[in-house]
Amino acid sequence: MARVALHTLGCKLNFTETATLARQLVEAGHTLTDWEAPAEVYVLNTCTVTHQAERKVHKLLRQVRRRAPAAHLVVTGCYAELRPEALEKEPGVKIVARNRQKPYLAQAITALLEKKEVSLPAPPLSEPWSFWPSSSGEGRTRTFLKVQDGCDYRCSFCTVPQARGPSRSATPEAVVQEVHRLAAQGFREIVLTGINLGDYGKPHGYRFLDLLRRLEAEAPPTLRRFRLSSIEPNLLSDALLDFIADHPRWAPHFHLPLQSGSDRILARMRRRYRRRLYEARIEAIRKRFPTAGIGVDVIVGFPGETAEDFAETQRFLADLPVSYLHVFPYSERPGTPAASFPDSVPWSERLLRSQALRELSQRKRWAFAQACLGQTFYALMETPEEGLTENYLRVQLRQGGAVGDFLPVRLVSVGEELEAERID
Ligand code: SF4
Repeated sequence: MARVALHTLGCKLNFTETATLARQLVEAGHTLTDWEAPAEVYVLNTCTVTHQAERKVHKLLRQVRRRAPAAHLVVTGCYAELRPEALEKEPGVKIVARNRQKPYLAQAITALLEKKEVSLPAPPLSEPWSFWPSSSGEGRTRTFLKVQDGCDYRCSFCTVPQARGPSRSATPEAVVQEVHRLAAQGFREIVLTGINLGDYGKPHGYRFLDLLRRLEAEAPPTLRRFRLSSIEPNLLSDALLDFIADHPRWAPHFHLPLQSGSDRILARMRRRYRRRLYEARIEAIRKRFPTAGIGVDVIVGFPGETAEDFAETQRFLADLPVSYLHVFPYSERPGTPAASFPDSVPWSERLLRSQALRELSQRKRWAFAQACLGQTFYALMETPEEGLTENYLRVQLRQGGAVGDFLPVRLVSVGEELEAERID
């Protein structure tokens, strides 16, 4: 069999799918190797959320071609789904697999290596998108489990619904089964992830909260923690928050995309909420969890965003009791309504606004860590020195611990690093 190197760009979902493909390739007898190491096949799982992500794909392919001219190049992911032609013409690229073809990719790679005809079933566009279960380990303690895929929203800047199809979910039975499999492998924390996680339940109609209740009831006790990845603010209900407040196994860590602090811009983005709802969700979290970790996604430089709109976003975020920001300069995506909106903001201005919010994010991180000083948490040890708390603080543990330990700790100092001490 062959040496296969895999590399992933983009979201956690893409990482879970690469990890699943890697497992299938090993089951087919291939050997996994590092991206920088010699291999017969290089597989790139791509992203198309920004033009930089697409540019990075071509750069990575050029680099591989230079160091391994005889190797087979295989490209999959959202860029391959939306613009296969741009990848098919890349020298050395033997397979371009769309997202819907990912479940068949391991077979196709084996056929390619056996010099047999490579057949990737191309489901007719009319056929509903199926759900391909996947999960990825981060180290030996935490893993991301994909429970939902696709999106039925139509935010004006976003290509994800085209690249990933309509919203669809794993059945609760399949999720519970996978949780048991992952816990049996020694994982102590599972992060439930999706494209529009809170929209879990289509097409089988099972509610997200019911899935959480089932996992709480049926997950093995060795599985110490569940965490939610990013969730739309309009889908973070009081009932979900109450469930998490009543069940300590669920991490008080929330990542809520905001995108803009200006209602005028939120309307142009076709987001499903306005500032007031977002603010109310943050208040609802803080009322239940004073030291919860709260992360915010924000896009700057959206078409038509004036200096005053941006100042409104800055003020709104400065006043919000959140822990950190993920800041993205707006990137025109072909085929999205926003790409043809007038009043484009110069790229240099987008970068200036990004910088300003990244500095604000630093101040937020510091203030949040300061507010957690002297408080007690549980650290899941990812290395003998470093652990991750339920509210998403990465702490250095003075006395150390074993990988996988779930230790009660107190945050004792905030500096370049966060230091904690064991209290057991
Ligand atoms: S919710 Fe909006 S931004 Fe998020 S994936 Fe769906 S369309 Fe894109």
